[in-house]
Amino acid sequence: MEKFYITTPIYYATDRPHIGHAFATLHADVISRHKKLQGKEVFFLTGTDEHGVKIAEKAAEENKTPQEYVDETSSHYKEVWNVLNINFSDFIRTTDPKHKEGVFKFIKKLFDSGAIYKDKYKGLYCIGCERFLAEKDLINGLCPNHLRPPQKISEENYFFDLQKYLPEIRRKIKTEELKISPASRRNETLGFIEAGIDNFSITREKVKWGIPFPEDENQTIYVWVEALMNYVTALDFPDGEKYKKFWPADLHIIGAEINKFHTVFWPAMLLAINEPLPKEIFIHGLFTVNGQKMSKSLGNVIDPLALIEKFGPDASRYLLLSQFPASEHGDIKEEQFIKKYNADLANGIGNLFERVLTMAKSADLRGKDAEILAFYQKIQDDYSQKMNNYQLYEALAAVFSFVKKLDQYINTTEPWRLIQNKNPETEKILNTLIFGIKNIIVWLKPFMPKKMEKAENYLENLGQSSEKLNLFPRI
Ligand SMILES: [Zn+2]
Repeated sequence: MEKFYITTPIYYATDRPHIGHAFATLHADVISRHKKLQGKEVFFLTGTDEHGVKIAEKAAEENKTPQEYVDETSSHYKEVWNVLNINFSDFIRTTDPKHKEGVFKFIKKLFDSGAIYKDKYKGLYCIGCERFLAEKDLINGLCPNHLRPPQKISEENYFFDLQKYLPEIRRKIKTEELKISPASRRNETLGFIEAGIDNFSITREKVKWGIPFPEDENQTIYVWVEALMNYVTALDFPDGEKYKKFWPADLHIIGAEINKFHTVFWPAMLLAINEPLPKEIFIHGLFTVNGQKMSKSLGNVIDPLALIEKFGPDASRYLLLSQFPASEHGDIKEEQFIKKYNADLANGIGNLFERVLTMAKSADLRGKDAEILAFYQKIQDDYSQKMNNYQLYEALAAVFSFVKKLDQYINTTEPWRLIQNKNPETEKILNTLIFGIKNIIVWLKPFMPKKMEKAENYLENLGQSSEKLNLFPRI
């Protein structure tokens, strides 16, 4: 059986999950379900990133130990993923003993490879970002993301000699041995490399809430460096059976704001210890909500639990994935969710299924309409291509153009009239429609697994139930 290893970013455990987290995780879930339907053995990893100054600060604010704090925040992610029906294989936490063990082994290998050296670091650090900033990154002396002044830091750190690996990273990106999609993000990475990237420190002095650096007890491992290692520690790096079976990752899904960490730093660290690089990194765009940047003060942070309460898990999945192509920046039009739900799901799919299934009381029908069959083949090809390129929005659009086509077919052939007149064409028309519905179910299964399962069961027992399917009640 062919394997497929897919990951989401691990989310920083300082808050409750919002739809930004759900967006990446849903993409991974749909792709993972699609690969399973193709017969692949899938390992799907998600989790939480739990070290660093910011977490220690937040815990102190709430009078908790950092561990108590992350136990709680991490559980919120698991809770939301469960109600959203996210079918992950493993949930890694960077406070797991397994993660720490793997990190120690990775760091030891890095050390042995000669890629690490000690140096004095002087510069600016934003606790909010958990990263070093250059003077040119600041706006009015403040971190542009957090609007707080960075700390001036002067300390001894251990550094990773990135320069040594940049030419090879660049070559692998250009030959697509390391594929970065979409192309716009790939160019962005090549641009970073062209402009020059400094070596980065892999440890922090005086940061207590972190994994101790084995070579020097005054240091902890820089939170970003150990967080990236989750993709291999979850598989019991370097000797575990899972590691041997599933590494390298077939797909890392990340957001545009963490591009450089994943497309440059992470591959360089793997190159240094002679491990294979991930095959592909898909970078989704950033988005606004109702036309504005998502922020607590604007009150437009969408809680996935509130969404699910209103629409149910499957429709919520659909509403989030059908907003804009993930390869671009976009806008989530929350204000139009009800309208879109009613248009696409209640009136679109729900109504189509209802119309067909009330007319076709038996699935034992014959013949197919040649034009619809040809259109179906076109959509099938389009759908497969889009799904294989991880273009979920585009794949959904293809499915919905088929839904529309079937609606038009019903309107022009008027099968309800033909049934009354016992017209011999009826069998063919209804059979074509049933065939169409069956394929819509298959296509939408990775997106709305529970609803499609319900429709599939209904179809299998067609004519035996007096109840309506009622797949998406109007809201
Ligand atoms: Zn910041």
